[in-house]
Amino acid sequence: MEAYITADWIYPVKTPPIKNGVLGVNEDGSIHVVLSADEAKGIENIKHYDGVIVPGFINTHCHLELSHLRGKIAEKTGLTTFIKQILSQRQQPEEAIISAMQAADAAMYENGIVAVGDISNLLISKSVKLNSKVYYHTFVEVFGFNRPSEPIIAAAIEIKEGFNPLTASIVPHAPYSVSPSLFNEIEKVTSVDDISSIHNQETLGENELFETGTGKFADFFAELGIAQNEAHNCGENSMKYHLPKLSKTVNTLLVHNTFSSKADVDFAKQEHQKLYWCLCPNANIYIENNLPDVDLLKNEGLKITLGTDSLASNHQLNILAEMKTLQDQKAISFEESLKWATLNGAEFLRIDAQYGSFEKGKKPGIILIDIVKDGVIEKETTIKRLF
Ligand SMILES: [Zn+2]
Repeated sequence: MEAYITADWIYPVKTPPIKNGVLGVNEDGSIHVVLSADEAKGIENIKHYDGVIVPGFINTHCHLELSHLRGKIAEKTGLTTFIKQILSQRQQPEEAIISAMQAADAAMYENGIVAVGDISNLLISKSVKLNSKVYYHTFVEVFGFNRPSEPIIAAAIEIKEGFNPLTASIVPHAPYSVSPSLFNEIEKVTSVDDISSIHNQETLGENELFETGTGKFADFFAELGIAQNEAHNCGENSMKYHLPKLSKTVNTLLVHNTFSSKADVDFAKQEHQKLYWCLCPNANIYIENNLPDVDLLKNEGLKITLGTDSLASNHQLNILAEMKTLQDQKAISFEESLKWATLNGAEFLRIDAQYGSFEKGKKPGIILIDIVKDGVIEKETTIKRLF
């Protein structure tokens, strides 16, 4: 027995929004039918909601493991200072880390998030993910520039297998932290049905390190006593370094892209056919007080997704809040960013058979947002899960 619900607008995402559209929903929350107001004439007992109804949000970039650092990291200090703060404060008692992750997971659920691509360096998030109502794919993240690659990969394989039965894949952290030989080892353990992810051009110092061997990352490495690699100071930026080393057959997320230029986009389009471009605007403001050239990425027709990053660099794990920042700072419409926040993320995570849009047979989560008026997000809160 299905229920019928309606709102001021229904956003199926794959097709245009429907004014006073009607969703027929099966008892298990799967979509039975999507109807226009006309097509729904004659159906009785349609429950009306004020606001707009959208499919569940997909958060393609999070670090659940860093949830206990909420409010502990100073804002707008730049990426290298941010990393130093994370390293010095990350160690905490296990119970504190787990309870912070549980709270973060519950908050994501309340905020209408149905699936998460989550970066992990450890196995500690497994119990939270297993008991969650949210779908998780875990990216087991590796790094290493000045040490042998084999032990790094061996440890990562153990963590990946530890996450079983949850899905997981082994991925590089960032261009500045992964050596050519480690990229090579990652490629060896990547299979065609994996998904990959890498932090990309998050700060100016990252490009500078590769181009000229100078800047904030070069200083940071010097401070740590890490010798420069042959890839550094080579006249080409970080994207030219890492993209050719990635597996070309798997969906791959470039995260942040704060300093990606038109030339980078042109190069990326030639080099890799399965790229998705993740924006984490609130984290970019938190860490670097800078935002990517969103118009460029949009106008180039790239597949854009959204992420919250972690509570170390965000005040909340809320995709609607990321959409509001893009609306306020970059004039991105609700309808546009909604596709990034739902369907594109589901496609990237290869879960679009169930998530990302209202279509017959899918069970994408059904979210009521009553603070969107005339396609404008007025506040960040007031999200209600209907299914
Ligand atoms: Zn991140």
